[in-house]
Amino acid sequence: MVLIPDRLTRAEESEWVETMLERLARRETRRRPSDDTLATQASRLSAQYLDGRAEPSSVRWVDNQQARWGSCTIDDRSIRLSDRLRGMPPWVIEYVLLHELAHLLVPGHGPDFWALLQRYPRTEQARGYLEGYSDATGSPATDP
Ligand SMILES: [Zn+2]
Repeated sequence: MVLIPDRLTRAEESEWVETMLERLARRETRRRPSDDTLATQASRLSAQYLDGRAEPSSVRWVDNQQARWGSCTIDDRSIRLSDRLRGMPPWVIEYVLLHELAHLLVPGHGPDFWALLQRYPRTEQARGYLEGYSDATGSPATDP
């Protein structure tokens, strides 16, 4: 919805609407590249650490995941990362992304799973970071 200020002439009004629509469109395109960036990052991580075997159908940021850092749905191979990760160091975000990618290959958290994650050099460090963050903020500390 676009709220139009009072007392504008027709011409001013349509010019104003135009401006608002442009602004909204710009905001949209700003939002989209970040999901694109995630997808690019996902294929790079998959190639580098999972022999390119993890191929998600979509990777995106979501703002409705308070208890988990990331999640994946095996059936449709979609991956979601919590908005709360934004602003954390890149290697932490990479770890969570790789964690979810690995779940596309190995569902649980058994030895097979962690063997895959050990290929990423900063796995332990990232887990420690997230644990510390959860402790400090009192947020639920579920492993992704
Ligand atoms: Zn997991």
